[in-house]
Amino acid sequence: MTNSSTHASARLISAAPSGAAKPAFLGGTPICADLPSTRWPPLDDATERRLVEVYRSGGWSFNGPVEQEFCQQFAAAHGAQHAVFMVNGTVTLEAILHTLGVGPGDEVIVPALTWPASAMAALYVGATPVFVDIDPGTLGLDHQLVEQAITPRTKAIMPVHLYGGMPDMDALLALGQRRGIAIVEDCAHAHGGAWNGRGLGSLGVAGSFSFQQSKTMAAGEGGIVLTNDEALAERLYRYKHIGYAAGSKQGQAQVGPPAGLICHNYRATDFQAAILCEQLKRLPQRAAQRDVNAQWLTAQLQQIPGLRAQQRGRCASPQSYYCYMFTYDPTAWAGATAAQLRLGLKQEGVPATLTYGSVYRHVLWNVPATAFRIHGDYRDARGSACRVSEEIGTQRTLGFPHQVLDFQRGDLQKIVDAVARLQHHAADLARLEA
Ligand SMILES: *Cc1c(COP(=O)(O)O)cnc(C)c1O
Repeated sequence: MTNSSTHASARLISAAPSGAAKPAFLGGTPICADLPSTRWPPLDDATERRLVEVYRSGGWSFNGPVEQEFCQQFAAAHGAQHAVFMVNGTVTLEAILHTLGVGPGDEVIVPALTWPASAMAALYVGATPVFVDIDPGTLGLDHQLVEQAITPRTKAIMPVHLYGGMPDMDALLALGQRRGIAIVEDCAHAHGGAWNGRGLGSLGVAGSFSFQQSKTMAAGEGGIVLTNDEALAERLYRYKHIGYAAGSKQGQAQVGPPAGLICHNYRATDFQAAILCEQLKRLPQRAAQRDVNAQWLTAQLQQIPGLRAQQRGRCASPQSYYCYMFTYDPTAWAGATAAQLRLGLKQEGVPATLTYGSVYRHVLWNVPATAFRIHGDYRDARGSACRVSEEIGTQRTLGFPHQVLDFQRGDLQKIVDAVARLQHHAADLARLEA
């Protein structure tokens, strides 16, 4: 081979689009081998000091000073008047339904695509979850289908801000108002998100957040309810604190809970509150930056054939991402499955996640068919009425965890390059054993 031909072929390779180089799943060099760590939750000295302070105070529970500080600040950050801190974001949902008086014979509308807890909350109070399909853009409740699913038994509608996204909250709030049905927001993925300047969790009658290990504010476990309804806040507080009124000292209850309000112990501790107080300081800045980065990613990924980002909330201000999700059109990807795409991304060094799938198909959803309902006339081959959740939400959606949205532009660009490279090799990807 002569010098000049070597030179020519080298030039040819470097002039080729980066996507054309051999992808990692075919033995090429991964594009994203040196991305920053996605270790979560984050550790810092200020939090460590606060935890030691709580430890040495000996006052670990029972509405301690740090819990009060956190409740006040978390409520303020979301424009709500009251916050009630609990052990996790599952019992918070149950507590809301219970204290609203939802019970046997009642129905609660939930999206087909969400984590099972959203629907289990209805079961815990003896009510019937009614699954309604999602909108293919926002991946949140389709409000027109919600309206069709309402019956005289419907007592609550539970929009879930899935991955941080937002269904049309104006439409759902107006619907709830018109039909006299409580709107209960599941904000487990949406800390710091806002709709038209109003904090999520403060829009409906009550909103629930989770602080489980993976969430964008994480204390191992934990949950909180926001509400602007003082009477509801009082019932919620009693419910999680075995009947004690807010402000009454342990062992010194003056007046018991209202008749029929069977209470529980769902108290969290000042340890969790201390961790969350520190994380809350960084939340607004971090949520805003993630939103900016998500919009940049969307602009880039949109240029790759067959990709569409989860639609940003119509009035998001900001959208607070738990995951950055996108749907893809398999016909533009040689029929590759979401699992194959995810594996291809993993080989390139990109952390990627699939959706939960429809709740009523989840491996943990071990519920007799008589105890829930799936709304809709359409039936697919598996007898499911929630077509969008089944086809788009479950089979054609994947994305990146929130830590990725904390990356610098250069690292985000590498991720875009990795996706573009996989698109270029979609035919091979579709043969990958996932
Ligand atoms: C995590 C989560 C919950 C429940 O929160 P836990 O704190 O884990 O009990 C509820 N809804 C959704 C959508 C979630 O992702």
